[in-house]
Amino acid sequence: MKVLITRKMPGDAVERLKDKYEVEINESDKILKKDELIKMVKGKDAILCFLTDMIDEDIIEAGKDLKVISNFAVGYDNIDVEAASSRGIPVTNTPGILTNATADLAWGLILATARKIAQGDKFVRKDRFEGWDPTLMVGSEVHGKTLGIVGMGKIGSAVARRSLGFDMEVLYHNRSRKKEVEEELDAKKVDLETLLKESDIVSLHVPLTDETEGMISWNELKMMKKSAFLINTARGEVVVEEALIEALKSEKIAGAGIDVYSDEPYGANPDYYSLDNVVLTPHLGSASHRARNGMADMAVDNLINILEGRDSDYVVNRDDL
Ligand code: NAP
Repeated sequence: MKVLITRKMPGDAVERLKDKYEVEINESDKILKKDELIKMVKGKDAILCFLTDMIDEDIIEAGKDLKVISNFAVGYDNIDVEAASSRGIPVTNTPGILTNATADLAWGLILATARKIAQGDKFVRKDRFEGWDPTLMVGSEVHGKTLGIVGMGKIGSAVARRSLGFDMEVLYHNRSRKKEVEEELDAKKVDLETLLKESDIVSLHVPLTDETEGMISWNELKMMKKSAFLINTARGEVVVEEALIEALKSEKIAGAGIDVYSDEPYGANPDYYSLDNVVLTPHLGSASHRARNGMADMAVDNLINILEGRDSDYVVNRDDL
């Protein structure tokens, strides 16, 4: 069987694929263009792809022999799942293993924005620090504040759990009720408007879908407290970026911590760069050794299980096949 891997993978999980199949890897590690993907997917039985690969209907159509699309990510908004389902191709993802890494990063962004850590780092490096100053970069304490989680799934719950150490009140917005989280964290389910109006920190953890695209726009940002922070480790398109940039410029909100961007896979919006009240990271949510090696293992297991005719727990389109 023939397998295409669209970029270099961390760890040694790839060796398990090489032992079993004829494997073609994009060793250049550059994001493949659509025409390159179309060419390379032809004649392959499986593709192991990343969130930087836009696997649309044309690519799936070209992959006539595909038996599985194994995505190296929990989010699968980069794949036309409907097109895969209509051809009977299972799509798999890698949930769970990156939950703690992403929750840690979200907390890094919460503290970095509220306490101006990134701003302070730049200041010191520019050799502008001339000793302790009672008015220098005074930020907001996180302790005792209200945390609003939008999307109380695996990552949202892990972010909320970490707030126990900061004695925070937790509000959440989710389509279904999460009774376990309510019991464990005393979290309250509220509508999005209430969450935006009452939270000091709003952290986004919904998947990117037709329903969540543009979920946070100017209207929603206007509802937030002037002293509040928005944290986005979900997907760039959940927020209307131009509206957020305007809200940061006009100080409609106090700040933002951003890991994901609308222009991905090609980069971030340069309009952010001159703003002091935003902390930017380059899509690092799952970037810990443990999470990335675990994702590689899961993506490889998913692919092998399906190719060998076994089941995988991580088929996202099971009901539509
Ligand atoms: P998850 O466990 O499936 O959680 C997603 C939550 O969002 C669920 O509780 C879901 O519950 C809720 N949700 C879905 N649609 C909604 C809507 N329209 N309104 C309100 N709530 C909605 O997924 P996860 O593992 O926590 O991952 C969440 C997302 O984080 C991923 O999809 C991915 O895009 C992103 N992520 C980013 C990074 C990074 O590197 N920055 C790393 C990992 C993941 P209901 O369906 O019941 O509403």
